Amino acid sequence: MFEHVTPYAGDPILGLMDKFAGDPRGDIKVNLGVGVYYTEDGKLPVLECVKTAEGRIANPPRPRGYLPMDGLAGYKKACQELLFGKDSQVGKDGRVATIATLGGSGALKVGADFIHEWFPNAKCYVSDPTWGNHISIFEGAGLEVGKYPYYDGATIGVKFDEMCAFLNTLNENDVVLLHPCCHNPTGVDLSNEQWDSVLDIIKDKKLIPFMDIAYQGFGDDMDGDAYAIRLAVEKGLSVFVSNSFSKNLSLYGERVGGLSVVAPTKEEADVVLGQLKFTVRRIYSSPPSHGNAVVDTVMNDDELFNQWVGEVYEMRDRIRQMRQKLQDVLTEKLPERDFSYFTKQRGMFSFTGLTAPQVIRLRDEFAIYMVENGRMCVAGLNNANVEYVANSMAEVLK
Ligand code: PMP
Repeated sequence: MFEHVTPYAGDPILGLMDKFAGDPRGDIKVNLGVGVYYTEDGKLPVLECVKTAEGRIANPPRPRGYLPMDGLAGYKKACQELLFGKDSQVGKDGRVATIATLGGSGALKVGADFIHEWFPNAKCYVSDPTWGNHISIFEGAGLEVGKYPYYDGATIGVKFDEMCAFLNTLNENDVVLLHPCCHNPTGVDLSNEQWDSVLDIIKDKKLIPFMDIAYQGFGDDMDGDAYAIRLAVEKGLSVFVSNSFSKNLSLYGERVGGLSVVAPTKEEADVVLGQLKFTVRRIYSSPPSHGNAVVDTVMNDDELFNQWVGEVYEMRDRIRQMRQKLQDVLTEKLPERDFSYFTKQRGMFSFTGLTAPQVIRLRDEFAIYMVENGRMCVAGLNNANVEYVANSMAEVLK
């Protein structure tokens, strides 16, 4: 019956987690693999604003009816305000179709299914490299996926001219998947001037920008990280935006995300919203109510909202301190090398420049786990392990 079914090789990053869990070197092992924020104590935080919100939601206990296919109104409003600004014109004009989704992954899936249905000739282009699941999700939705030049290992920057030249070769309605901030896996972002040029090409060539923002608040700040999204709207582009609250609310398992599609008119946005709901209906019907209620409660209460922003900036600042410390120790150990990229990169991830054999050596000899392409989750560092990690990295880099 199932003889023809081939085994699933497993997700390389999640597989690494299993290996880490099974590593007996409990006193020294360090997990810099998975994209999760850990506190200084190495714990997954429960944010204070979330604790308060959950207290309110639990008392009195609420019945758990189905949510609407597109989620709670307050949740959708929160997505729009974070992405497009509090009193944005597109919001006031009703030109944004927003739905609550099962995490950022769910938003990508619903968006990809919608595009496959309504733009059947579209191909999707992702940055080289990108988060692996981008490729799986768009291919899984039936789109052909290609890569545009992005990361430049020589400069630990962006191959900007090559990227622009490549985008100029694409066809009308091809999808360009972009990371508005905190690029995963490299930590290397476009500058505001570069965004301006890229979005001009997208407009000229009539491409579809699809912006995936999973780390809002971890780069510059809430508004600064949404710069590219708002610029796309300013330029009159019909942009797709998938957002995730997994990291910035530390609500990974609640599956909280959103998909917003900006349309040229309110009428078109309404039609798009209807089709997004239908897409949801035939995959999973409606989003989970607990996550919706937490996001709605935090985001629509001024005090909780401000507390939340403060908590995100604490996470951001701790990551920045770890970047600095790593850079300082490595520079001291190997003064002939330039490690300034660690503090130039933004967000949770850093492309360390380590080769696969060096990453394997780190794991085998020092029990330090990161992704084989050299991606490190900086949020796995803390004052207790950062020097050990830096010294071990210096060893394998010698
Ligand atoms: N996009 C990017 C770039 C991500 O890094 C992630 C999470 N690793 C997601 C989307 C998906 O987020 P979620 O866990 O909310 O599905």
